[in-house]
Amino acid sequence: MVAKEIKTITDVICPFCGTLCDDLEVDIDVKEQIVIEVRNGCQIGTKKYFSSNPSEHRYEKPLIRDNGSYKEVSWDEALNKAADILIQAKRPLLYGFSSTECEAQGKGVELGEILGGILDNTASVCHGPSLLAIQDVGAPTSTLGEYKNRADLIIFWGCNPVHAHPRHLGRYSEFVRGYFRKDGRNDRYLIVVDPRNTHTAQIADLHVQVNPNEDYELVNTLRAILRGVELDVDSVSGVPIEDIKKLVETLKSCNFGVLFFGMGLTQSLSHHRNVDAAICLVRELNDHTKFCLTPMRGHYNVAGANQVFTWQTGYAYSIDFSKGYARYNPGEFSSVDVLIKDEIDASLIVASDPASNFPAAAVRNMFKHPLISIEPHHTPTSVNADVILPPAIAGIECEGTAYRMDSVPLRLRKVKEAPGECLTDKEILERLVEIVKKKKGE
Ligand code: SF4
Repeated sequence: MVAKEIKTITDVICPFCGTLCDDLEVDIDVKEQIVIEVRNGCQIGTKKYFSSNPSEHRYEKPLIRDNGSYKEVSWDEALNKAADILIQAKRPLLYGFSSTECEAQGKGVELGEILGGILDNTASVCHGPSLLAIQDVGAPTSTLGEYKNRADLIIFWGCNPVHAHPRHLGRYSEFVRGYFRKDGRNDRYLIVVDPRNTHTAQIADLHVQVNPNEDYELVNTLRAILRGVELDVDSVSGVPIEDIKKLVETLKSCNFGVLFFGMGLTQSLSHHRNVDAAICLVRELNDHTKFCLTPMRGHYNVAGANQVFTWQTGYAYSIDFSKGYARYNPGEFSSVDVLIKDEIDASLIVASDPASNFPAAAVRNMFKHPLISIEPHHTPTSVNADVILPPAIAGIECEGTAYRMDSVPLRLRKVKEAPGECLTDKEILERLVEIVKKKKGE
């Protein structure tokens, strides 16, 4: 029996969540080009590597829906069909882009502009309010490396990294030993602000159980007490005022604090005003000590999507090209809003699965019109598409650039070949741009 030839690739960057862990080791069966082992990854990151292996869930060839079933077609045929759908649409939606590399995102922007469509990424349903708040008031921030080496007080507000960013605590924020935090967990005080008793809350030194949708009141009470205002109430947002006063003293007395926040802050009542107030709190804490804040970005390259869209259009998400130039108005040009109002007559979904998380009314309208999916796996979105274009998975089957949650760009590595006829997202979008240009006579 011939032994398998195994190749080990080290320092691999995990393309799952915004933590972008860069220390994975992946064993590849060289002949079969399949992942056989992943070391250092958390469960969800590891699972993504194994999901790249050929299976009944993985697309390997372009498909077109024909009389209710799919038929395999050539890339030329599939791309021509996709281009025709997009050109014939009066207002196509191009959505997703947060789980692919920056180079593909750039091509997506170009396509959105040529088509005069709506261009959006997943920030419009997660940290869009953070971007609005940062545009309003700026943000005192730093890198995960600085936090690892210096932070002695960590707040997780409205997020649950034990589940959503499993290695964040071990690599950057809690258990890890840093240059000035040699004793790791013992050198850090962990506060969780969350209405839920999450697994992160259960390992915290202090769990502040704020009432749902009352974060804004709590943040501003912290700010008022920080300024020395005496409040004539027993509690705010379900938290006793004496506890809030003690919390303010704790925040003031640290050497280096960090506020990490998630969708519990951005998607609860008050949205970007919550983040706006949290930024102001952090800024005001800097009168007493060093304090920073960083959003817990979910998709591994949603921060990159915001960067690339901003370089090329001036705006980070929810962009409308229908007048021939970029206009920006979250709430009007956001994917969910245009879908619910049924203002879209075709969709191109790139590296995303809106059917599994958008409101039902938006999904129903998306399915009413022609749908193109650039997607490696069977998902609720892709199985309803008219054209399926199978990509190589960035960070596993092709290289590319991705931005970590602290906006540090990192280079994704290729560890194996993609199965079947998959092309990279960038190649697919590049070819679509060329075909659309040609068909439009540009
Ligand atoms: Fe991947 Fe995130 Fe897990 Fe790190 S924490 S291994 S980036 S899924």
